[in-house]
Amino acid sequence: MSSTWAPGAAGTGFDLDHLPYGVFSLPGEDPRVGVRIGDHVLDLAPVAEIGDPDSELAAAWRTPPLNAFMAMGPEQWATARWWITEVLGDSVHAERTRPHLHPLADVRLHLPFEVADYVDFYASEAHATNVGRIFRPDGAALLPNWKHLPVGYHGRAGTVVVSGTDVVRPSGQVVSTSSTTDQSSTTDKSSTTDKSSTTDKSSTTDKSSATDKVPEHGPSRRLDIEAELGFVVGTPSALGEPVPTAAFADHVFGVVGLNDWSARDIQAWEYVPLGPFLGKSFATSVSAWVTPLAALANAWVDLPAQEPEVLGYLATAQPAALDIEVEVELDGEVVARPPYRTMYWSPAQMLAHLTVNGASLRTGDLYASGTISGPERDQRGSFLELSWGGKEPFEAGGRERTFLEDGDTVTLRYSAPGTGGGRITLGEVTGRILPARTL
Ligand code: CA
Repeated sequence: MSSTWAPGAAGTGFDLDHLPYGVFSLPGEDPRVGVRIGDHVLDLAPVAEIGDPDSELAAAWRTPPLNAFMAMGPEQWATARWWITEVLGDSVHAERTRPHLHPLADVRLHLPFEVADYVDFYASEAHATNVGRIFRPDGAALLPNWKHLPVGYHGRAGTVVVSGTDVVRPSGQVVSTSSTTDQSSTTDKSSTTDKSSTTDKSSTTDKSSATDKVPEHGPSRRLDIEAELGFVVGTPSALGEPVPTAAFADHVFGVVGLNDWSARDIQAWEYVPLGPFLGKSFATSVSAWVTPLAALANAWVDLPAQEPEVLGYLATAQPAALDIEVEVELDGEVVARPPYRTMYWSPAQMLAHLTVNGASLRTGDLYASGTISGPERDQRGSFLELSWGGKEPFEAGGRERTFLEDGDTVTLRYSAPGTGGGRITLGEVTGRILPARTL
């Protein structure tokens, strides 16, 4: 790999073979589109204007966030990458470029793109199996559809936040484990009569487990993380036209780190029959840097075997999986190392499934992989799994832990083989838990 004249980039994971995009601002100034090199960010528009004041790329970069640039499509993305590599790689450009290079310590990072729609998948077999065993101990771990389609749901685009944003502990309807036990052991006549004042008779006389539970309104006691990878759509598609797996790189601009914060107690009570809702929608954190697909060219590996064979529209050419290592850090201590290469469904298959009904893509669409968990205990990407539903605490900071406590900081780190022989470091995702604000 050729080296950059920019200071201190070698060995940071942010050398010339990476060049992730983001949006930054200097104190008192408007946000701008930049590219990261080492521990600096290059303000792209003014540098592009030096060479060509009418440059289309400069015009797109002058309009943050990244959506205008991402909408230009793969040819322009390649042109931009070639141009940035030239500007940062050849010292002949150093003198006039250097004034536009800012230390990261001097800038504030913003959400890199305006999120259009947000979809979250469930693509890890180990995660889906673990969650199935924890939530439905008496049923099949995987539901019958799981190996036939990448299961997913639509999330809340407006609460996707940039790494570093604090997360307020959500409140909502929760049925605590202890009250569930209480309810089931005291479903005698008097309590049934009490309940009839607030619910109709048919539900109080129903002995099914759902109606034995009474929710309370309060802060989540089982707040969790989900270590995921997010895929960012650049090029839109037409309504009514499915996007084939082979068109993945025509539409997907790049990759972000993603933490799907999850309130397990709110989720467990609300999710049947329509799926995740308020237990997920309070916040989803993404990295400030979007790694372009081109930087991951050496990270593709074969998917794990898919059995039974998938339907034709989900067939995909190998290699289709990404060899990305993930680290889950709780208050500075690594508690898990989920390997992305173990994911059952590929990002191209998720995109094909997302559009198989003719739903169109918009620039800024974000779809996430679902929790990344490997087969080993220390490869689990959620505290739900690491603590097996809270029953088997794991150790961190010298004590036993289950779910998130106020003041906890979780940081997700990602790395992948680069195109220059070393590894690249994807943007980290960090967030701190603030106490609940109850009504
Ligand atoms: Ca998730």
